[in-house]
Amino acid sequence: MTYVITALCLHDGECLEECPTECIVPGSPVDEYPYYYIDAEECIDCGACAVVCPQEAIFMDDEVPDAYEAYGDEYLSMPKGTPGFDEEYEVEDIYGDTFTLYVRKLEEGETVDLTAAIEFNDDFFVDGPGYDALD
Ligand code: SF4
Repeated sequence: MTYVITALCLHDGECLEECPTECIVPGSPVDEYPYYYIDAEECIDCGACAVVCPQEAIFMDDEVPDAYEAYGDEYLSMPKGTPGFDEEYEVEDIYGDTFTLYVRKLEEGETVDLTAAIEFNDDFFVDGPGYDALD
């Protein structure tokens, strides 16, 4: 079991400050890896990251919604070039660094499957940059 950060993440970084095991890695390059990612090997399931996430983007892996119901106005972000995610959204993280995300705004009552984040998270550490993204 581990926590997973989903496509609701807007790369603001609140979770980083809370993680007691420093197992959350900001995706980089952001065009390719727009979320933050959790190392399942080091996560102790404390839930501290989920509590502070302003987007409520973080779930236990077995609780990631496959039919998340939008309240409206929240954004999903995906890697640059993903069909349907062509709106540019400027964000500033808690360290003052700015990024451009590629997003889609959700409509009230729309349901979306967020479970792809589980595989994205695993791939980030297996085939992607993993902790090298911190360099
Ligand atoms: Fe870190 Fe706890 Fe979140 Fe796991 S659940 S990523 S240990 S803050």
